[in-house]
Amino acid sequence: MKSALSDSHLSLRNVTVTYPDGHTALEPTSLEVKQGGFLVLLGASGAGKSTLLRSINDLVRPTAGQVSVAGLSGGIVTRRNLLEHRRHCAMVFQQHHLIGRQSVLANVLMGKLSSRGSLASLWPWSKSDKLDALAAIDRVGLLDKAMARADTLSGGQQQRIGIARALVQKPRLLLADEPVASLDPATGQSVLTLLHDICKDDQLTAIVSLHQVNFARMFADRIVGLRQGRVVFDGAPAQLTEEVQASLYARSSPADSPRSFEPAHEGSPFGSPVQAKESLSC
Ligand code: ADP
Repeated sequence: MKSALSDSHLSLRNVTVTYPDGHTALEPTSLEVKQGGFLVLLGASGAGKSTLLRSINDLVRPTAGQVSVAGLSGGIVTRRNLLEHRRHCAMVFQQHHLIGRQSVLANVLMGKLSSRGSLASLWPWSKSDKLDALAAIDRVGLLDKAMARADTLSGGQQQRIGIARALVQKPRLLLADEPVASLDPATGQSVLTLLHDICKDDQLTAIVSLHQVNFARMFADRIVGLRQGRVVFDGAPAQLTEEVQASLYARSSPADSPRSFEPAHEGSPFGSPVQAKESLSC
């Protein structure tokens, strides 16, 4: 019989994030994330979802606490463990981060950079890399667009390409940061359906931040509700009562509003393969 521990993919122990301006966006947070689950981080804008998600791949470095991954002893604090973790962890961004003037195929191939050495990233792509990328594009239903410029695609299609780029990395863990926030509800639902089905088919562990309660109820195995950088709910969608839901979105003080700051993480798309490699892999 498998122990509860062997089912765990990831664990956070008192992970805390205080930004350089002194704002604590994530209070000490501990979570055990099950292998193969579809976990939704739910909360209003500014609740700390993105900060929590990014602390898992070290795009935001925790100021305290530890992130541990199954199979990597000692957490992801050493460079070696972090690189190993990032190899198996892919990310889907709200703003896609596609390079508009490049083809869909070229964009999807970027997902392969994390498995290449820095020098190898200067070499042309192999046939097998291209076939992998085409298979991923086919999987998101856009094979006929493989040679199209990314900026000729609709928002929903671009996010499907963002998913294909994550898939070529052959991840075990998929992080998605508000993947449908900029899409209309119908397109958002179809993109989330695709993402959810792929994660289940491939038995990926998924952590997806969302602000739409209806989507969280529809797709999550587990919902972690955040407010002001604290976990205020952790349970199955059926346990998310109207009362808890209201408390997640209630604005009672200025502290509930997102603050303005110079964003460090949602910058321009990547200027070079090396930058892309740093940013795309988790
Ligand atoms: P969410 O993803 O739920 O919208 P975030 O994690 O993006 O929330 O932000 C949580 C809080 O931290 C917000 O008040 C936000 O303004 C602030 N914040 C986010 N990033 C930074 C940063 N780089 N520097 C300072 N404050 C930040």
